[in-house]
Amino acid sequence: MTDCIFCKIANGEFNTPFIIETDDYVVFRDINPKADTHVLVVPKQHYESLTELEDESLLGKLLGGVKKAAKELGLKSYKTVINTGKEAGQEVFHLHIHVLSGNIKGV
Ligand code: AMP
Ligand code: ZN
Repeated sequence: MTDCIFCKIANGEFNTPFIIETDDYVVFRDINPKADTHVLVVPKQHYESLTELEDESLLGKLLGGVKKAAKELGLKSYKTVINTGKEAGQEVFHLHIHVLSGNIKGV
């Protein structure tokens, strides 16, 4: 999707440092962290939200990305959040998984 900020980030258009990059997803730091550590696991393919995701095997890969990110960042305890829909707090309409650790303020 040409107008989507997370598509652009995942395509490398902003030279965002990736904590992890695979063929399926990237992991990078949230620009407005709500915890001491706050990263986002973002599929390279555009899905507006979890509702639009039909390939459930991708979900397994994204959760694998959560685990890898936690290991890479040395997180022993962390919270994983997916906001789906505006009223639930979704602001960026490209599926992503929040990973938060330490002094979590909530997303
Ligand atoms: P959500 O409310 O679940 O849609 O979460 C969107 C998240 O994306 C928020 O925590 C924002 O701080 C974060 N965010 C928005 N724009 C950027 C960006 N350019 N780089 C990194 N994180 C971003
Ligand atoms: Zn997108």
